[in-house]
Amino acid sequence: MSDNTSNSGLPDEKDISRAMPSAESLAQSPKAVIECFQEIPCNPCVEACPRGAIKITEGINQKPSIDHSLCNGCSLCVYQCPGLAIFVVGIDRDNPSKGFISIPYEFLPVPEKGEIVDILDREGVKIEEGTILKVNDSKATDRTRVVTVQVSSGLLSRARFIEMKRRTK
Ligand code: SF4
Ligand code: SF4
Repeated sequence: MSDNTSNSGLPDEKDISRAMPSAESLAQSPKAVIECFQEIPCNPCVEACPRGAIKITEGINQKPSIDHSLCNGCSLCVYQCPGLAIFVVGIDRDNPSKGFISIPYEFLPVPEKGEIVDILDREGVKIEEGTILKVNDSKATDRTRVVTVQVSSGLLSRARFIEMKRRTK
């Protein structure tokens, strides 16, 4: 974690660029982005990945690392991270100007496929609107649903939350 990250609580550009997959690996398949920048005693992400892509070496307090060449973007690690620190990003092969991000989501109401939502950056600032593409609300995810929303490819490293336009009554 850089000094800037520790002061602000937000990752800086270096942290983000280290966490993001390369353009070459994203062209192969969606990839997980692990934004776990603090040394904490935690490791469910390692157990969650059936492909052995996530590792924590030299003790449970170390930060996880990911081998993007092994990751296929299945998103199993997204809902199993108690810190809500893992996302999956991907590119639409038919329209590379568009991509998507899968985020862990624990709020109500649950978004629905086709719904238009606001897409927010890490600081909660709206950066664009996007369409919900998929919601994994299966029993396995418990209350941490995995919501996939369309986002411009150029915003894949910034988009990290959604805000519903619809409100509960
Ligand atoms: S998205 Fe799937 S393959 Fe990739 S790191 Fe997570 S669990 Fe492993
Ligand atoms: S499960 Fe989440 S919070 Fe825990 S070490 Fe892995 S990425 Fe970090």
